[in-house]
Amino acid sequence: VQWVYNFGAGAADGRAEMKNLLGGKGANLAEMASIGLPVPPGFTLTTEVCTRFYEDKCTYPTELKGQVAKALARVEERSGQKFGDATNPLLLSVRSGARASMPGMMDTVLNLGLNDWTVAALAKRSGDRRFAYDSYRRFVQMYSDVVLGIELSHFEKLLERAKQRRGVKQDHELVAEDLEKLVMDYKARVHVEIGMDFPEDPHEQLWGAVGAVFNSWMNQRAKTYRQLHDIPESWGTAVNVQAMVFGNMGSDCATGVAFTRNPSNGANDFYAAGKVVFSADEAVRRAKDGEKVLLVRIETSPDDIHGLHAAEGVLTTRGGMTSHAAVVARGMGRPCVAGAGAVQVDYAAARLSVGSVTVQEGQILTIDGVTGEVILGEVPTVPPQLSGAFGIIMAWADEYRTLQVRANAETPNDARQAKEFGAQGIGLVRTEHMFFDGGRIIAMRRMILAADEADRKVALEELLTMQREDITELFRIMDGRPVTVRLLDPPLHEFIPHTEAEMAQVAKAAGVPLNRVRRRAAELQEANPMLGHRGCRLAITYPEICEMQARAIFEAAAAVGKAGGAVPVAEVMVPLVATLQELSILKEVVEKTAAAVQKEQGMNFTYRVGTMIELPRACLQAGKLAEQAEFFSFGTNDLTQTTYGLSRDDAGAFLPEYKAKGIVEQDPFVSLDQEGVGELIKVAVERGRTARDGMKMGICGEHGGDPASIEFCNKVGLDYVSCSPFRVPVARLAAAQAAL
Ligand code: PEP
Ligand code: MG
Repeated sequence: VQWVYNFGAGAADGRAEMKNLLGGKGANLAEMASIGLPVPPGFTLTTEVCTRFYEDKCTYPTELKGQVAKALARVEERSGQKFGDATNPLLLSVRSGARASMPGMMDTVLNLGLNDWTVAALAKRSGDRRFAYDSYRRFVQMYSDVVLGIELSHFEKLLERAKQRRGVKQDHELVAEDLEKLVMDYKARVHVEIGMDFPEDPHEQLWGAVGAVFNSWMNQRAKTYRQLHDIPESWGTAVNVQAMVFGNMGSDCATGVAFTRNPSNGANDFYAAGKVVFSADEAVRRAKDGEKVLLVRIETSPDDIHGLHAAEGVLTTRGGMTSHAAVVARGMGRPCVAGAGAVQVDYAAARLSVGSVTVQEGQILTIDGVTGEVILGEVPTVPPQLSGAFGIIMAWADEYRTLQVRANAETPNDARQAKEFGAQGIGLVRTEHMFFDGGRIIAMRRMILAADEADRKVALEELLTMQREDITELFRIMDGRPVTVRLLDPPLHEFIPHTEAEMAQVAKAAGVPLNRVRRRAAELQEANPMLGHRGCRLAITYPEICEMQARAIFEAAAAVGKAGGAVPVAEVMVPLVATLQELSILKEVVEKTAAAVQKEQGMNFTYRVGTMIELPRACLQAGKLAEQAEFFSFGTNDLTQTTYGLSRDDAGAFLPEYKAKGIVEQDPFVSLDQEGVGELIKVAVERGRTARDGMKMGICGEHGGDPASIEFCNKVGLDYVSCSPFRVPVARLAAAQAAL
């Protein structure tokens, strides 16, 4: 049986396809060697040796020793060096390499073959004693840890002592003599710990390292990793023994990772790294200085919007896929990890901790908004591009799909981005997002804090101007494509701060007495705001808000038309409707406003009034709602929340356990719960279309960007999906896959 496979010098026994036998690393080293890449020579002990090792009580097949000796001779020949030689010694690296990559889970030994003789030769040949003894002390430390099982802390203490003796702080400030002495200290410690000398015989070192790598297949880390990634224990690991090359032998040497292909898959490059900051203001300050920052908050509020904008990404410890921070961040194309419950944030000390790891303000973290990973340090990133092959695939997708794809967007930047990614319209303008920015939130607060209706009208005038300008710009950018503008949705208290200091600030900025801010905050306080005074309920109690918004929309349509642009079909959407009466009352306000604006402007335009379907009652009453509603848009974030009775902001804390226990397969806020929420949607589609033939229907909850949910939308006959701009390409592809 061939247990050992050689590679190097333009030839190899193995090939890339032999992953099962040679492991991923071994198979690819063989392939690279045989296509002529300058791979340092070496050999691979197969995964079958590992399997046999465990079957035969940690012993090796009898032929193995001979095969390794032969392979080693080949490496000596190919490298022109000799293992254990006192003038030109060959040094080896010994690494694990399973069929599937298990990064960092198993053991590795480098610089193997160093002893008191070979180190002298290495010093002489390299002309660098410091380098030679540094390599030696690293080897003794690594081997003692990995093979001899000696605690690393012993060596760390000795290293510290050496630095103290020399009066320096950094390892690299130690000179050759210090390191030589350190090796002696290390070896003395080894003797104390195991009652034997450190092995000087390179062959003994080699077999020790090979055994350690095979043994590490069964260490706890590797076992856990296999469980998490469904890697069978029976696969075993290969061991790769390879001639050492040095990345630290002068300025013409380096180590690192290089890609011969773009590692990006074209769409999922959502890594986006930065220095940790804990306040929106700090994010803005540092971003202005050109720093890349990552905003970390326990949770976010409208007050943080400038920070979200300035940051490369957002990490929150509360909330989930559909909570505020995630939705806003996604809209801006910022990756967001929301609800990372294991992260403890200490604002006062400006640091966060996860278990024993502490990260101070200014340290770098990387987050992946797709997988929810939070990574210490910086990961290189690639901006997504829609050109080339990716563009071709998108064009193919557009040929086959029948579902339209729109975007959820509220700023000109979002809208432009959405159009660039191929959005066919805007399915949801969350108008409240337009008031999050800087000075604007003040106008909103003035409106909320108004003493009476007259006061409120003045504040509304100010909001009307802003809203009209924003919507005009959106209509202009979308150039005739449909734009659905939703009336104000969130509970008003979201715009009012709650700490004394913040309230004082707001009172000053809004020019109202502090007492009034306190009183309004208390009045607006709700036990259950998500089920409280929000959505259309706001417009029912403050019809002047609805009127202002409708006016802004229609005046914007008129302005675009008068400027010679394509007059859009303005779609006015009412959120959180439960009853026909709610919709009828608000539709009347909108219609009256439309008539007034058409008269004032002396021009006609087409518009539609429709409703969000985001409550179970609305689904069941869809037939009736369709009498008034000219379109439906399923708000599956709220529909999931209300159908499941599961808070969109709090579920992140326990849903992972639900997933782990198999109670739910997927977070229902990420991928539509087809059996429950989906049934309600089916009912609503059927009843709505029976009442109003051919009625236009879409989805604008976060599920509109999730491929499995998109497939469902296609199946139940929706006309479009609407998702955040950066998910549009994925949605186009998923819609095509659903159609095929
Ligand atoms: C929804 O509920 O699905 C929706 C789109 O509205 P929002 O997320 O703004 O509540
Ligand atoms: Mg909603």
